Amino acid sequence: MSGEEPERLTQPLKGKCLCGAVSITLHSAEKEVDICHCDMCARWGGAFYAGLVGESVEVSGEDSITAYQSSEWAERAFCSKCGSNLWFRFKPTGNRSFLAGLFDVPEGFGIKHQIFVDEKPDWYDIAQESPMKTGPEIIAEAKAAGFEFD
Ligand SMILES: [Zn+2]
Ligand SMILES: [Zn+2]
Repeated sequence: MSGEEPERLTQPLKGKCLCGAVSITLHSAEKEVDICHCDMCARWGGAFYAGLVGESVEVSGEDSITAYQSSEWAERAFCSKCGSNLWFRFKPTGNRSFLAGLFDVPEGFGIKHQIFVDEKPDWYDIAQESPMKTGPEIIAEAKAAGFEFD
């Protein structure tokens, strides 16, 4: 972790699923994308996960959202009508990150970090330079922060 405050957008970031049943407004979004290369994210979305976080969020279309408990500590939500993935929630903190692809992201976004790089398949690499961490490094950081994992 760099410890630096990330740059944030001043304008709300508007997003929606493929069919439009779910819309999301993310306030004070960080101008950085979180990338996860883990096996679960790949199985969920077809390849790596790219997420955005903000300081607050409004979600509409709750009737069309299914939240799947993918593990004891995580929930992954999708639109029940069109299947678009929507967010990943880390249950111990309640923090959510939202799929970057749902939003019309302006230019100038960077990558905060790439995690679970040890689980990344060989057939792609991300060109933009960014800090990289393995799964064991991420789990050690979470444990140091007081989270319990089996
Ligand atoms: Zn939809
Ligand atoms: Zn992942």
